[in-house]
Amino acid sequence: MEPTTQMGPFHRPDMRVDIVTLFPGMVEPALGESMIGRARARGLVDIRVVNLRDYADGKHRVTDDYTFGGGAGMVLKPEPLFAAVEALRTPAARVILMDPRGRTFTQRIAWELAAEKHLILLAGRYEGVDERVSDHLADDALSIGDYVLTGGELPALVVADAVVRLRPGVLGGEGAAERESFAGGLLEPPQYTRPEDFRGARVPAVLLSGDHARIARWRRTQALWRTWRARPDLLTDAELTPEDRSLVEGFERGERPE
Ligand code: SAH
Repeated sequence: MEPTTQMGPFHRPDMRVDIVTLFPGMVEPALGESMIGRARARGLVDIRVVNLRDYADGKHRVTDDYTFGGGAGMVLKPEPLFAAVEALRTPAARVILMDPRGRTFTQRIAWELAAEKHLILLAGRYEGVDERVSDHLADDALSIGDYVLTGGELPALVVADAVVRLRPGVLGGEGAAERESFAGGLLEPPQYTRPEDFRGARVPAVLLSGDHARIARWRRTQALWRTWRARPDLLTDAELTPEDRSLVEGFERGERPE
């Protein structure tokens, strides 16, 4: 099968992502826009949206069936998913089922997947997917959070977006991805742009001072403060210097950043 994306003449994308879904029309438009759309057009990544129905047999190309043992609703049949993966597989492929029971997707997992050559993301539907897909086809199962959606399309897009933006050349500013939330285990400090005074709310003076060391200290303190306040669980695994630790101890004693 020929890649569906536009390739530059000298460029072969070194990452491929296949999204297998019953609703390609829900996935394709999101991949055509913005950064991901541009990364595709520039040949940085080869993303293919694969219609599961194309791999279903019979006149009616049935992809779902009733649940053995009773229970409301339908379950995706194993055959079309196995046939799709068998057709798409390359030796480097990592097959991932979108599943609320999977491990929770995080920035760390996004970095891990960004190092892969080929991802095949399987979007479930209805009441879920025949268990033999998790047991014998998928290498991994990922959840995007503790809630239930109607299908795996949005989760697959979430994973594809978070992974593709980490690939070399996809984001504009080099190093942007290293500074942002979760990069060192902390949330990002506040950011401002013009105007300096918006309806009386002023940009913190330190950011206008031109004193780079002071700005770096302010950002670090703010990142620690925001994380301590909103996501203290992240501090357990964050990479903290002795100076960071003494700031956090200060917050615990009731001290507040400037
Ligand atoms: N009955 C299932 C939910 C089925 S939702 C259960 O209770 O676990 C239908 C499909 O949507 C799932 O197969 C999965 O592919 C996708 N999905 C729904 N919520 C998700 C989430 N939080 N993360 C990843 N995939 C999800």
